[in-house]
Amino acid sequence: MNAEVVDAQVTPVDATDLAQSAMPASSELTNQPTSSLTQGDDSSDCASDVVDRSNKVNLLGMTRKELETYFETIGEKKFRAAQVMKWIHQLGVTEFDEMTNLAGSLREKLSRVAYAAAPEVVHREYSNDGTRKWVFRVGEGAGSLVETVLIPADGRKTLCISSQVGCALDCSFCSTGKQGFQRDLLPAEIIGQLWVANQSYMEDTPVGERTRTVTNVVMMGMGEPLLNFEPVVASMQLMLDDHAYGMSKRRVTLSTSGIVPMIDKLGDEIDVALAISLHAPNDELRNELVPINKKYPLVELMAAARRYVARGAPLSDKSAQHKAVKAKIAQNQATSVTEDQDDALEPSRKKHVTIEYVMLDGVNDQPHHAKQLIQLLNDLPSKINLIPFNPFPHAPYERSSRNRIMAFQQTLSDAGYVCTVRMTRGDDIDAACGQLVGQVADRTRRAEKWKQKIVEHQQIKQDFEKQTAEPTSGQRREILRTRGS
Ligand code: SAH
Ligand code: SF4
Repeated sequence: MNAEVVDAQVTPVDATDLAQSAMPASSELTNQPTSSLTQGDDSSDCASDVVDRSNKVNLLGMTRKELETYFETIGEKKFRAAQVMKWIHQLGVTEFDEMTNLAGSLREKLSRVAYAAAPEVVHREYSNDGTRKWVFRVGEGAGSLVETVLIPADGRKTLCISSQVGCALDCSFCSTGKQGFQRDLLPAEIIGQLWVANQSYMEDTPVGERTRTVTNVVMMGMGEPLLNFEPVVASMQLMLDDHAYGMSKRRVTLSTSGIVPMIDKLGDEIDVALAISLHAPNDELRNELVPINKKYPLVELMAAARRYVARGAPLSDKSAQHKAVKAKIAQNQATSVTEDQDDALEPSRKKHVTIEYVMLDGVNDQPHHAKQLIQLLNDLPSKINLIPFNPFPHAPYERSSRNRIMAFQQTLSDAGYVCTVRMTRGDDIDAACGQLVGQVADRTRRAEKWKQKIVEHQQIKQDFEKQTAEPTSGQRREILRTRGS
C-alpha cells in the first residue's frame, strides 16, 4: 500500500488503544462479535514505506486546474494532469513508475519532485456485514486522528468523510464537539479518505480491471465542513471530476450545522446535495443544542436553505438528456430505473435539502416539536431524516424511544413530508460519524469540564425528581440550561 510518511513511533499499542476507545459505538451497533471483524493495524505496512518526502509536492489533493498549473510550472504539457489523475484516483496507482502512458523522463522527474499519498491508516476494521472503518493519523499525538466509515446499504456504498480534526462548534449531543478543535484537514487528507476506501476494494485486482467502489459520499464525519471551506470544496471537485471519481452531484452531500454565509458561498462554488443539521424547531432549544444558532438563528438558516435550493432549480423537463432516458425507459418498458438512469433523470428532479434531526429523549421529540418543525419548514423543499441519538460516555441525553420516534415521523408524514428514520445497523454507524475518535482526543480538556457539568445536571435533576415524578417541560429547560459546556 502507498501511504503518507509514517511516524515510526506508531506502535500496535496505539492502534489497540484507539480501537478500544474509538470503536465501541460502531462495534456495539454492528452487533458483531469482535471475532467476526477483520481488524488490521496498518502501521507496520506503512513503516516499510518510509521515504523522504521533504521538498516534494503531494499531488493527491490537487484539483484538475491545480494539477494543470503544476505541470506547466515544471515544464510539462497540461494534458498530463488528466492522465496522472486517472492513474491516481481511478486506478489507485500512486507510483509514477507504474504510470505506463507517461514518458520515462517524466516519470523520473515526477519521482524527484512529487508524490501522491493518502494519510496514514493506523487502524482498519472490516465487518462481515460490509461496513468498513478506518482511523487515520494526520499529525502527532493521540489527538491527531480522524475516522472514516463506509456503510453498504441498498446497493450503495456510502462513505462518511471527516473534514476537520475535532470541531469548534461544541453541539451538546456530539462527541466530536467535546474534544474541541485541533486543525483543518488538507485536501489530500480529505480526498485521501475516499482514495483509501476505494483502494481497499482494488488491492487484489489487476490494475486494468480496477473500478471505484464507493458510490456516495457524505461529509458527515468529524468537523464542520463549511469552516474548512477551500479544502472541502477542492475535494468535492475531485469527487465530481470525470478524470477523478466522476460521482454524480446528487451523490455527494455536505452536511452543515448552519454556517449561513458559507451556505451561500457553497452555492457559488459547487453544486452538491446539502444536509442541514437542524435538531430543533425553535431558537431557544437550538441555541442549547447547536450553539452556532446564536450567531445564525433559524430565520437566517431557513432563508439560506431556500436560496440554496432555488439556485439549483430544476432544468426544464425538456432537457435532452431527460427526454432520452425517459424514452429508453419507455422502450424497455422498465418498471424501475437503474442508478445511472436515475442520475440522468436528475435535471428534472426538484432539488431539496435534507433536514437532519437527532432524536433526544424528552428534549426535542415531543408532539409540539413536530408541529413546530412543520411550521418552520413551511414551503422549503426538504426531506427529513430522524437520527436516533447515539449515546457516548458521559452524554447527558438518551435516545428517544422507538414509539416516540415513530409518532414524530407519522406527524411529519401526515403533513406531506418525506421523513425517514435511521434505524438500521448501517445507519446507526452513520450517525456514529458524529462521534468518531472524540474519546481519544481532548486537547482543550472539554470532556473534563463536561463531566463536571453532568454531575451538576444530575444533582438538579435529582432535586426536581424529589418534588415531582417527572420534570415539567419548564424544569427540563432548567436542566438543559445547566448543560452548556
Ligand atoms: N458538522 C457537520 C457534519 C458532521 S456531524 C454537521 O453538524 O452537520 C454529522 C451528523 O451527525 C450531524 O447531523 C450531527 O448532528 C450528527 N450527530 C452528531 N453527534 C451525534 C450523536 N451523538 N447521535 C446522533 N447524531 C449525531
Ligand atoms: Fe461539530 Fe457537527 Fe459535531 Fe456540531 S454536530 S460539534 S458541528 S461535528
